[in-house]
This record gives sequence, C-alpha cells and structure tokens, in this order.
Amino acid sequence: MKDYKIAVIPGDGIGKEVIEAALIPIRAAASKHGAKLTETSFDWSCETYLKTGRMMPENGIDTLRDFDSILLGAVGWPKTVPDSVSLHGLLLPIRKQFDLYANIRPHRLLPGISGPLAKSDFDILCIRENTEGEYSGAGGRVHVGTPQEVAVETSIFTRHSVERILRFGFEQARLRRGKLASTTKSNAQKYTMVMWDEITEELAPAYPDVEVTRYHIDALSARMITHPETLDVVVASNLFGDILTDIGAAIQGGLGFAASANINPLGGVPSMFEPVHGSAPDIAGTGAANPIATVWSGAMMLDFLGEREASADLLAALSRITRRTLLLTPDCGGTSNTFSLAREIANAL
Ligand code: ATP
Ligand code: MG
Repeated sequence: MKDYKIAVIPGDGIGKEVIEAALIPIRAAASKHGAKLTETSFDWSCETYLKTGRMMPENGIDTLRDFDSILLGAVGWPKTVPDSVSLHGLLLPIRKQFDLYANIRPHRLLPGISGPLAKSDFDILCIRENTEGEYSGAGGRVHVGTPQEVAVETSIFTRHSVERILRFGFEQARLRRGKLASTTKSNAQKYTMVMWDEITEELAPAYPDVEVTRYHIDALSARMITHPETLDVVVASNLFGDILTDIGAAIQGGLGFAASANINPLGGVPSMFEPVHGSAPDIAGTGAANPIATVWSGAMMLDFLGEREASADLLAALSRITRRTLLLTPDCGGTSNTFSLAREIANAL
C-alpha cells in the first residue's frame, strides 16, 4: 500500500470546516484504490499569529519539506490580522520557497450546476505564473500624501520563468485538446509582454501538435464570457491569471467550485493544493460553506501524487452528487451543510 505524507493546514474561518469535511471523501477515494494518506495537521492561522506573532514557526518551511503534499484550507482573518500579514506570513513563503511556479485552476461546470452563462460545455484549464511578474513587489512611493505623490510598481519578467510556465502550458495542452491560449497585453506594454510573445513563438515549433493562439487580456476576458467553449488551456502572468481565474470561478458556479494546485512540475518539493476562496468570515461557523472546491483540489492532489484512478473516481463521485441539487449547500440552491454534502460525496464513491 502506498503511503503519502500529507501536511494539512486548515487555516482560518471556513478553511477549517471545508478541510475537515473534504478529507472524508478524499481519504475514502485514496483508500478505495489502495493508497493511504498519513496526515499531520498544523494549526498555522491568524489565531496562531495573535498568540505567537508568527503565522507559522520559523522552521515552518523546513517542517513542510518532508511531506509529499500540502493541503490548505484558507488563510486570513482581516478583522484581527491585516491580509498583507497573513498572506506574507504563510501562503506566499510556501509558494516562493518551494518554487511552486505553476498555479493550475480548472474551470468547468459540473453536471447539474448552473453558472450565469447559457453555455454549459466549457472545460478550461488556467495556468497562472505564480512567482514573479506584476506581483514582484518592486517599487515605491515618494512625496506620500502630497499633490506631487508618485507611486511606481515594476513588473519583473525573467526569460527563465516565462519560458518554464509557457512550456508547462504547451505540455498541458498536449495532454488535453491541443489548444493553448497565451495571454498578454503586448500592444500596450512593450517590454515584458513583447518578450512573453516572442518566447511563445520561439517555443511553438517544439510543439507542432499544439495550436497556440496569442490573445490580449482584454479580448480573452470577453471571450471567456462569450465563447468559453473555444478555450482549452490558458496560460497567463500572475496578475492576468489572477483576474482570468476569477472569471473562470464565476462562470463555473462560484467560489464554492474553484479548485487550485500550486505545483513545481519538476517535483522534489511538496506541492500545495487549496480551494481558491478565502476564509469567508460572513458564513464561517454556519455550515453553509461549500466543500466542493476543496474536494476537487484533493482530487488534483491525488492525481499529482500519481493516484490517477482515485482522483478520477473522486471527480466522478462529485459529478454524481452535483446533479442532486437538494444535497448541495445554499450557494448552489441546496439545503444541505458542509459535512452532510461531504459525506454524500464519500457515499457516492
Ligand atoms: P480572500 O481575500 O481570502 O480571497 P475574500 O474576501 O475574497 O477572501 P472569500 O472568503 O474568498 O472572500 O469569499 C467571498 C464570498 O464568497 C464569501 O464572503 C462567501 O459569501 C462566498 N464564499 C466563498 N467561499 C465559499 C464557499 N466555499 N461556499 C460558499 N460560499 C463561499
Ligand atoms: Mg478573494
């Protein structure tokens, strides 16, 4: 029996609830296919920060290094800890220290779920560059608060990072329907985005089986609404990927369905899997949190660990349950709660 070491970080608010619930079907899927998940839970959260002054201990990253995967709920509790502190104290260091440069987010409608669009046949995989670009944090402000104030924020794109995320995009397209949409704004931004376009063109001949189309971010945003069925794999920079994946979440039925993986495709470090949503203080403790995004993230984790059948089985169970509206949480018109929905998914296995 294969035994995987999983670091579980439930975090704050609904993060704690969706993790505890989603692990019921995730564990069940693994064990049905002869795999064992040995979990270690870490209470790294805003509560911990208030007690210790740190989101995670000083040796937190080294502690995580020994695990096969990290499963994270949600981190942040803006009422007591500023988001900049919680984000920079936990999530960003994990992504950065393990160089989890590809952020992967699948967008499709599960059976029975309706989004705001009439179309129901889209299946998009968004890949967001996760380490640099517009979120490099380089810049500053002068003459703060005066009429002469100037703020500068520099995007940093390296050939190394652009090339590896584009290669990953081409490779994923090859495994799916063979279409890659590369996103820039090279008509307006003449250095970074032009380099991105050039590298796209340089790599294309190595993937003759992939049809690559270059889109400007504004046009692609519109296309995700008007013709989402024409898109297969979308690869984008940190900021553009952030925006596109919120559109993706919206058209797939909301944040309750948006799953994600932060991976280093080269391996050798633990990858991190998490629902896209935050701690949702407005519904925390009410049982209304939809666990599907976390279950789906767990399916991505099983797949990445090499447990393909367990992953496919879990997604199939999910698809059987989403047809039955009453079993779902209130965000998708159901009357159920976080735990009973998670148990139904496990039963459907
Ligand atoms: P963050 O800054 O961490 O992204 P946020 O302020 O964007 O957080 P989220 O926690 O992501 O807020 O959620 C936004 C709203 O969407 C929540 O207030 C909640 O009403 C709803 N929501 C988010 N996740 C879920 C879920 N799993 N199930 C049901 N509703 C959800
Ligand atoms: Mg948010």
